[in-house]
Amino acid sequence: MVAVAPPELKICVYCGTNVGASPAFMEMARDLGTAMAGRGIGLVYGGGKLGLMGAVADAVMAAGGHVIGVIPEVLMRAEVGHTGLSELEVADDMHTRKARMAELADAFIALPGGFGTFEELLEVLTWNQLSFIRKPVVVLDVNGFYTPMLEMFAHAADAGFMRAEHAALAQRATTVEEALAIATAPAPLSVSKWADREGVAD
Ligand code: AMP
Repeated sequence: MVAVAPPELKICVYCGTNVGASPAFMEMARDLGTAMAGRGIGLVYGGGKLGLMGAVADAVMAAGGHVIGVIPEVLMRAEVGHTGLSELEVADDMHTRKARMAELADAFIALPGGFGTFEELLEVLTWNQLSFIRKPVVVLDVNGFYTPMLEMFAHAADAGFMRAEHAALAQRATTVEEALAIATAPAPLSVSKWADREGVAD
């Protein structure tokens, strides 16, 4: 295979290793992959073949796009490391994998998923909150999947555990177009988690 330079703009997509109970999840995953390739946006993802993860990657590849998978050695077999990608990086462990994905990407989009997806999403939200990174984070709320989580964030802000600005770092989209528009726009201005601590129980 001839190595092709990755596109300037790369979006990391977090999503489930399962397909989910509604065909709408798979449909959105494929549509997102196709749209990214169509716009010349590279995909960074967890490198597996399973579930929505495999579907996004397959859609980008099928539409002639560029995919970088980052998978830890320990999951190569469990998540079925994808051998048909533009690039597959094998990371030493889970933490290295997540740090590498976050480093490679200019923005993040979360599709529906389980604990793994939630952990990755929450990690990049907290890194934005702490100003370690400043990159847009989009929650693609397919069929209202993420509505309870967004309500939880608002609840945590109301209860004084985070600022409303930090809850708003999770930017909701309901369509692929909206998700890509948010992901390719500048990230929201970051407000320091530590500034003006009065009344905020950090
Ligand atoms: P899931 O949403 O649980 O199907 O997982 C989606 C992806 O998140 C998979 O590639 C997992 O390997 C990854 N992931 C990242 N961090 C974790 C973690 N702490 N536990 C489980 N999966 C994780």
